[in-house]
Amino acid sequence: MALDDAACGKLSLMEPIGYQCNSCGYCKNDETSQRTPNSRGSYYALTKSLCPKVYQMLLDRGWRRSGETLYIPDASRSCCPHYTIRLPASDFTPNRDQRQALNRWNRHVLGEQYSIELTTKYPTSKADKKKANNTFDLIKTIHESEQKYLKTDIHPSAHRFEISLEEDTYSEEKFALFENYQRNVHKEGPDDITRNGFRRFLCNSPLHRHKIDKTKQLGSYHQCYRLDGQLVAMGVLDLLPHAVSAVYFMYHETLEQWSPGKLSALRETALTLEGGYQYYYMGYYIHSCLKMRYKGHYRPQYVLDFISGQWDLLDDEMRTLMEEKKFVSMSCERARKKSQTGSKMALDGNISTRAPEPPKDETKRDNNGDDIPEPEPEQNESATTTTTTSSDPPILHPTPLAAMTSHLPLTSLSMPGILPLANLLSTLDLDTINVYFGARGGGDGGVYEMQDIVSWQTGSPTNPRSLKGNVADFAAAVGVEVVKAVAVDFSPRR
Ligand SMILES: [Zn+2]
Repeated sequence: MALDDAACGKLSLMEPIGYQCNSCGYCKNDETSQRTPNSRGSYYALTKSLCPKVYQMLLDRGWRRSGETLYIPDASRSCCPHYTIRLPASDFTPNRDQRQALNRWNRHVLGEQYSIELTTKYPTSKADKKKANNTFDLIKTIHESEQKYLKTDIHPSAHRFEISLEEDTYSEEKFALFENYQRNVHKEGPDDITRNGFRRFLCNSPLHRHKIDKTKQLGSYHQCYRLDGQLVAMGVLDLLPHAVSAVYFMYHETLEQWSPGKLSALRETALTLEGGYQYYYMGYYIHSCLKMRYKGHYRPQYVLDFISGQWDLLDDEMRTLMEEKKFVSMSCERARKKSQTGSKMALDGNISTRAPEPPKDETKRDNNGDDIPEPEPEQNESATTTTTTSSDPPILHPTPLAAMTSHLPLTSLSMPGILPLANLLSTLDLDTINVYFGARGGGDGGVYEMQDIVSWQTGSPTNPRSLKGNVADFAAAVGVEVVKAVAVDFSPRR
C-alpha cells in the first residue's frame, strides 16, 4: 500500500457523505430574509486531516472547504451556480478605486506630520516620481504604512499598524473581533454567534501545516491586522502549493469607512506574490448574486470549467453567457460553436456531419464531460427532464431535491465535475483504494485496501447504497489523482 502523500508524511483522510440539498442564502427573499429552500445541491465529504497538496488538487476540481466539511457544488442544478475563480497575482492590475482605498488607508495610518517629514527628509528623485505616477507598485504600497517599514528618525506615524501571519488557533481576542463583525455586518443575534461556531469554521483547520521549498508556508493561517495594539481585522487563509485561498475576512466596525474588503483583497494578492503562491483564490464567483460580483473586479479572473478542467478568462462574453444560461462551460460553448459551423458546412457542401467530439486538446482532466451517462435502467417514471436553453442538453432530475431523492449514483446525475463511471473504472481499480479504520495503538496504522473488506465484494459501483457504490461515487467526485493520495475514512467520528 503506497500512500502518495510525500509532501508531509501525514495521512490525508476523507469520509464520503454524499449528495445533499440545502437552502440558499444568495437568492434569499429580500423582504423576509428567508433562504430559498432546497435550491442548492452539493456532494459532501468530511476530513479530519488533509495535506495542503491534496486540498489544492480538490480546489482545482471545484471543491472548497468550510471547517472540516468539503464540498463540490452542483453547478447545473443549483439556483445560484458557484464558479471557482482565481487571479494570477502577477497579472493583477488594481483599478483606480482599489488604489485609492489603499492610499487613503496609508494616509490615515501615517498621518500628515509623518508624511511631510518623510518627503522633506527623504525626497524622491524626479525619475522615481515619474515612475510612481505611471506604475502602481502593489507590494511597496501595501507595506507603506506598516510599522516595521517606517522610518524611525522622523515624526512618528499617527497610528501603529502591524500585520502578522499567525497559526489558526483560537483566542478570545479573535473571537471578540468575530463577534463584532457578525453582529454589525451580518446582523446576527447573540444566539447565532458562538465560540464553538467560530472554532469549528475558522480555527484549527484539518489542513496540515508544513513548509515546502524551505520558505513557503502551507496550511491554514490567520492574517491579523492590529491598529494601535488592537486586533481590528483578520483574514483566514489557506496557504497551498500554488494558492492563497481566502476562507473568510472579518473586521471591526471602526474600520468600516476604510473599505476593509478592498484592503484585504489587495493585501492577500500581495502575499500571493511575495510568497510565490502564484494564484489568489477569492472563493466562489456567484454571478447570479449581485453582492458577490465584486470578486470580478479584481482582474484578470479565470473561471474553472467544471467539464474540461481548464481555466477561462472571465470576460464580457462569459458574463453575457452567465446572464443567459443557468450554467456555463466554455468548453461546451466551443464544442457547440464548432458543431454549428460543421452543420452549416454540411448544408453548404452536402457532406455528412456527426455529433461534436469533446474538445480533446482542451481537456486537462480525465473527464470529458460530454459523456453524459445514459439513464440507469432502474430509473422510473418519476424521472423528469428539463431544458435550460434550447441548445443545452436536458438534465435528468433538474432540481437538487429531485436529484437527492432519486437515490441514483452520483455518477448517473451528470453533475459537472463528476467523472462518468466508465471513465473512472477505466483509469482506477476501485479494489486498491485505501481505507482507514482508525489508529491502532497510535501512529498511522489502520490503513487497508477496499478489497480486504468482506462486504466490498458483494457491492456494485452503480448501487450507491452498497459500500462499493458509495466509494465509486466518492472517487468520481474527487478524481483519480486525489483518491490515490487519500484514505477513505471509516474510523469512528470524534
Ligand atoms: Zn440561490
